[in-house]
Amino acid sequence: MQFDIITIFPEIFNSYFNESILKIAQEKKKIEIKVHNLRDYTLDKHKNTDDTPYGGGPGMIMQVEPIDRAIRWITKNSKDKKNTKVIALDPGGKMFTQKVATKYAQDLDRIILLCGRYEGFDARVYKLVDERLSIGEYVLSGGELPAMVVTEAVTRLLPGVLGHEHSTLEESYSMGLDYIEYPQYTRPEDYKGDKVPKILLSGDHGKIKEWRQKHRKKG
Ligand code: SAM
Repeated sequence: MQFDIITIFPEIFNSYFNESILKIAQEKKKIEIKVHNLRDYTLDKHKNTDDTPYGGGPGMIMQVEPIDRAIRWITKNSKDKKNTKVIALDPGGKMFTQKVATKYAQDLDRIILLCGRYEGFDARVYKLVDERLSIGEYVLSGGELPAMVVTEAVTRLLPGVLGHEHSTLEESYSMGLDYIEYPQYTRPEDYKGDKVPKILLSGDHGKIKEWRQKHRKKG
């Protein structure tokens, strides 16, 4: 899976993508992440990517032209990726859920993520993308955090990314359905009188499985 992220703040991604699961997934060549600076696709000497809204109003709007050029350059330079989706991160978009992440992990070999800033995109940007995606019903200052969320949620579902000691099937939201979890504990066995259930210390895997089934609950 290849992730192409288009942003005016490329440095934001350095730290997060170079730690833990995402770092290992890149080392194992399960994913490739390319972060593109939108300013590299501007033609004016000030490298502007935004302008004032026609008709007036507060703030600035992301211009369509550099975004169009970035998407065309990225798609032209990796034609081998047949199953590509171009996604605009957008608080008004379709909700990103585990089900959506699962579908992307199964169906796609490249995801192009477009990070907005300011007051969002020129409306013509939406004609260049396949989907508008929201990560929740709140408004952030930019699409960079949502791009990280989508990248990580999809990556974790790719075969061979997580070790079997941490299977996604054991997780909450497994199978992309409802949020389901069972109580989990680690050391100490007794924390201020609050004790770990004895069955979990028994070593009896059958009974432990049964106990976990019984204590699964919807969040
Ligand atoms: N005026 C826009 C509106 O009300 O929808 C808000 C723009 S927001 C300040 C700037 C950018 O952050 C958006 O273009 C989008 O890329 C990103 N963003 C903010 N919240 C988001 C969310 N919940 N999901 C996905 N992207 C989000």
